[in-house]
Amino acid sequence: MGKIIGIDLGTTNSCVAFVDNGEPQVIPNAEGSRTTPSVVSFSKDGERRVGSVAKRQGVTNPETTVFAIKRLMGLAFDAEPAQKHARVVPYRVVESTRGDAAVQIEDHQYSPPEISAMILDKMREVAESFDAQRSATIAAGKIAGLNVRRIINEPTAAALAYGFKEKEGKRVAVYDLGGGTFDISILEISNGVFSVKSTAGDTHLGGEDLDNALVEELARRFEDSSGINLREDRVALQRLKEQAEKAKHELSSSLSTEINLPFIAADESGPKHLETKLKRSELEILVSEIIDQTLGPCQQALDDAGVKREDIDEILLVGGQSRMPMVQSKVADFFGKQPHKGVNPDEVVAMGAALQGAALVGDVEEVLLLDVTPLSLGVETGGGVFYKLIPRNTTVPTRSKEIFTTSVDNQSFVPIHVLQGERDMAEDNKSLAKFELAPILPAPRGVPEIEVTFDIDADGVVNVSAKDLGTSREQNIRVVASSGLTEEDIERIIGEADAYKTSDQKRRDLAELRNAAEALLYTSERAVAECRELVPEEVIAQVEADVEALHVCIDEGDAIAIKDALETLELSAYKIAEAMYGNVDLDAPVESEAQSDS
Ligand code: AMP
Repeated sequence: MGKIIGIDLGTTNSCVAFVDNGEPQVIPNAEGSRTTPSVVSFSKDGERRVGSVAKRQGVTNPETTVFAIKRLMGLAFDAEPAQKHARVVPYRVVESTRGDAAVQIEDHQYSPPEISAMILDKMREVAESFDAQRSATIAAGKIAGLNVRRIINEPTAAALAYGFKEKEGKRVAVYDLGGGTFDISILEISNGVFSVKSTAGDTHLGGEDLDNALVEELARRFEDSSGINLREDRVALQRLKEQAEKAKHELSSSLSTEINLPFIAADESGPKHLETKLKRSELEILVSEIIDQTLGPCQQALDDAGVKREDIDEILLVGGQSRMPMVQSKVADFFGKQPHKGVNPDEVVAMGAALQGAALVGDVEEVLLLDVTPLSLGVETGGGVFYKLIPRNTTVPTRSKEIFTTSVDNQSFVPIHVLQGERDMAEDNKSLAKFELAPILPAPRGVPEIEVTFDIDADGVVNVSAKDLGTSREQNIRVVASSGLTEEDIERIIGEADAYKTSDQKRRDLAELRNAAEALLYTSERAVAECRELVPEEVIAQVEADVEALHVCIDEGDAIAIKDALETLELSAYKIAEAMYGNVDLDAPVESEAQSDS
């Protein structure tokens, strides 16, 4: 078996690691760097470069240099984040034939996964060349092509790298602010078991937003002094961006820096240079609000995990942007304690992934990784109501079981509609699969017992089974819970559920009222048919009139009217029972014969 490597395919930089003698180690690239820029460039003759060479030549050929491709992954061309991205990058973002966002270089179109694959390929090369040097020590060290063993989320990987030797129980917040995305996760680590309690974040918030704020400031300063607007000049803008990012890095360790961009523009009077000083405090004023945007998701993650700020034992910083002192101080203020130092924020993800890989093949003592479901899973029930069997943020692997029944007499099959989402009504959620449990034995509604089980394994694969407890007949289906869903989708779905909460609740109440009304109609109509000869005519006539009235109300769909008609029918139907059994209190507990005799 080939050695398992862990790769962090980052928005800005990528990193690859493997586990040697139980210890995770980052593999440096050919230039000796431990991380490789996630940049791909194409030269005029079609030659492709990846990594720092690509990044360097991006200054002179910005239109043919692709960076931050991860931000476009899985986005439709007209999606707002794709449009936002297209406005700030020098390369052309176009619409592919499938409607997705793609990158146009000369007359060739590349999809975001294609560009990402080029970066992954480079990381494979890094690992391979290293592996060749060390063939004596790495057993069977051939990494030919990538066989994806498991995809784990970044914060989880980071916590793995940090805590794989941790023995006592700890509650950890992983704050991951990278170039393009922000994630916060709350995990519990104890005895090698990693359990993600909640995750939240913003897929379009990161270091680049800080760069853009700084670019805007520099462009403003230049315009003020020279009257020239650099924002329209793609080449100048790219140089500005490079310098802005560099200045931002420098201001993480010094209190002021200088920005020099000679020959950035020219007018009739000759070439113009951008020369300006920037203080750390000035940068902080520019970006303070952007960093504050990470705190909302932090609170959300705490709430979802059901813990308070003071319950967090360690805060782990991940992502290059978390090196900024202001980020660290805001995080410290929010949680009321200093974040953990000593883990390299650029490398932890790849190291954690390598550890997980090693655990998969038994190279290190088993670590158990528990992830969470991003969205709720369940089935459609009577009246189109979505019934959740596994709520979102449940730790996987997990299993949940529930007994359902039929809604029609002599139903010959039970349709099972598996859905994923947060809305109350089935039709508003994502349909994952449909199948039928058939045949089932003919029986009155409400009698058959159908046991539905949801089983999610550690890879997020959901096995749904339905079993008729009467006959033990069983049917099942396997689905991947989040197939086709990007993090973006997940955020949107959760947001929509909040926005529609009140109207969804109304629709759900109405559907449930209808279900109750239909059940009462069913028993009342049966009672009329069976007891017609045995109870006074006026009782039957009243029930029949109330049944009719309830039918009309259901057709009209007014919740209050249905409720009133339902209560009226309940009272008149009760009279049938009264007439049949004498004046008994049907709600009174049934006494045993022995007790009533005594
Ligand atoms: P990542 O996606 O984790 O590679 O993070 C990359 C982001 O971190 C980019 O926006 C970088 O500009 C930023 N970054 C890297 N190093 C530093 C630093 N020393 N100070 C501030 N930001 C940094």
